[in-house]
Amino acid sequence: MRITRVETHDLRVPLPKPITDSIHAVEKWGVPTCVVHTDEGLTGWGYTGTLSPGNDLICETIDRYYAPILIGKDPFNVKLIWDELHWSLLRWVGRAGITQMAHAAVDVALWDLMAKAAGKPLWQYLGGHKPERIKAYCTDGGWLNWSREDLVADCKRLVEEEGFPGVKIKIGKEDPREDYERTKAVRQALGDKPMLMVDCNQKWNLATAMVWGKRLEEFDLFWLEEPLNPDDIAGHRRLAEELNVPIALGEHVYTKFGFRDYIAAEAVEYVQVDATRVAGITEWLQVAGMAACYDLRICPHVGDMGQIHQHLTAATPNALLQEYIPWIRHCFVDPIVVEDGHYLVPQSPEASTEMKPEALEQYRVR
Ligand code: MG
Repeated sequence: MRITRVETHDLRVPLPKPITDSIHAVEKWGVPTCVVHTDEGLTGWGYTGTLSPGNDLICETIDRYYAPILIGKDPFNVKLIWDELHWSLLRWVGRAGITQMAHAAVDVALWDLMAKAAGKPLWQYLGGHKPERIKAYCTDGGWLNWSREDLVADCKRLVEEEGFPGVKIKIGKEDPREDYERTKAVRQALGDKPMLMVDCNQKWNLATAMVWGKRLEEFDLFWLEEPLNPDDIAGHRRLAEELNVPIALGEHVYTKFGFRDYIAAEAVEYVQVDATRVAGITEWLQVAGMAACYDLRICPHVGDMGQIHQHLTAATPNALLQEYIPWIRHCFVDPIVVEDGHYLVPQSPEASTEMKPEALEQYRVR
């Protein structure tokens, strides 16, 4: 099989309601999408996720710099191609962010092609593991711009009516006392059993995290996510040592070397590696394998909001649970299916990354 053509689409999908966390206000989710065509008529689909700005730069990177490298290649040489993209001249201008996310979209498309050619769901093509259902937790009721009443009502509904075994809420208000009160209200409403995670989105510095991380311990949190700047490995190591709450992070760690440094420093306890932020499935699998060597659990950041991480979680013994944020679910030909707070493992012979033509039509800005 040979690659004959590569196309990109800059998609921007409006959210059901605008949301905020401690450092972002989001109205549209950006989905730079890459379609790889072959001489056998199969097409591979890959994408990454943004806040929308930068989508154009990611598409441009693929169109102008990565597509010429791909033409004529056999997608089954995915690791060789990975190296060639990784060592391309673009490396000079970026080893994280735009170049890495463009690489992710391409790499995911190649794995989709291989699964399609093999006639198996990607998770089976990767060796399989979890047979039926994957435990999920929901983030989509815990946004920072929800009032305390709405926050409590949404979290209760997600657990009691929709059956999620856990929920995540955003923290990082200007006054951390508000975070404390909101977390307390949610824990009281849910009772002891459901998992409750809090996500600070990098807002705190070490001093704030030491004081308020300790105060939040009483709510029996499953984890504290991204308390500090993602480049501050030493700060996260201090927190992992001092707090009686596990530290989760990874959505802003762009390479396997970044994860190696976090893991070796014992600065992360739940590894949230995202296949659309590191350079695709190829690098994601390397990080998951490295985490397994340290007996760490993978809980992928669901930046893709599609099925890539369902396939990868289903194929990875040390993957524990999956985040749920269904903003772009309706765009996919084979969308995620959640029943009673659990993902059903996809059965279609692909990576489930293909978008519906009407989604391209509706959300494409070029
Ligand atoms: Mg997060």
